[in-house]
Amino acid sequence: MATIYLNKKNLFYNLDKISQVNPNILAVIKDNAYGHGIITFSKMLREYGIKKVCLRNNFEAELVKDIFEEVIIFYPGTNRNAKNISYSINSLIQLKKNRHPYIHLKIDTGMHRNGILMEELEEALEIIKKKELELRGVFSHFCCADETTPDTFIQYKRFEEVRNRVIEFCKKNNLNIPYFHLANSEALLKLPKTFDYVRPGIAMYGGIDGFKPVMKLVAKTISKRKITSLQGVGYNKKFISSKDMTVSTVDVGYGDGIPYFTNGCELKETQALGKISMDSMIVEGDFDEVIIFDDVKEFVKNFNTITYDILVKMSPKIKRIIN
Ligand SMILES: *Cc1c(COP(=O)(O)O)cnc(C)c1O
Repeated sequence: MATIYLNKKNLFYNLDKISQVNPNILAVIKDNAYGHGIITFSKMLREYGIKKVCLRNNFEAELVKDIFEEVIIFYPGTNRNAKNISYSINSLIQLKKNRHPYIHLKIDTGMHRNGILMEELEEALEIIKKKELELRGVFSHFCCADETTPDTFIQYKRFEEVRNRVIEFCKKNNLNIPYFHLANSEALLKLPKTFDYVRPGIAMYGGIDGFKPVMKLVAKTISKRKITSLQGVGYNKKFISSKDMTVSTVDVGYGDGIPYFTNGCELKETQALGKISMDSMIVEGDFDEVIIFDDVKEFVKNFNTITYDILVKMSPKIKRIIN
């Protein structure tokens, strides 16, 4: 089977770069650390000195809760949980039902996906006070940080207002002031200030410009053969050779999370031919091993999708090795 190599040096380079903006990092490791392997990836984060992470659900939190000081669950369950686990509150209804004492309150400043409305802020704070919950953080999320539209600045200004109102409420009621966090990867360099913590995902993994790729996918050859001119390879003979050539069949396919393709695909040192199979693909040339990609920013150009989508779908079955 293919192997995923995780480049620790590049990850640390990315974390250094993020730290220059704000060294207080809530590393986003949802969805199996964007496909990198949540446990292996978390070990590298801990080695770097990351103390707090955000992830998707209670299942993921259980896997890494002993590694970090605080684990924030974006879409938590309804149970009570360990003290170093914080639940993100995404609506007033959830807040009213919530029984877990440690929370981060999410505010909808313009994305309209989840979070309480700004008009509901004081009502939410009253509920938190009455239920004696520990408000650890207040945050929001950008809809358009990868664009140059005014949205990011508008949301930033709204979040400043939210912060002022929260601080005022906490002072008046003798509550601890929570920490505030707003910036995802694309917003890191765009904001006048980044508040207490930043919340990067894709930048850490090197899926945007300016950051180095962490994931390399390498496949092993299953078999090789020589084909003559005008022979087809793979399902429906989608590739027909125009010359005599050697082809190598390698052990990774769409069953491992590579996007389906029917007309070949550019790889780092060669090209895949014709249709990808479930557990294999056929590449041009005589290889024992083939790098499928070592920079997702290049590989994604083969497909009509985003780097996140390629990374996150890498099958958990594939072995992850730090190197
Ligand atoms: C996924 C996510 C992030 C990280 O976003 P990137 O674009 O990968 O930096 C940050 N905050 C929230 C709420 C998220 O869901």
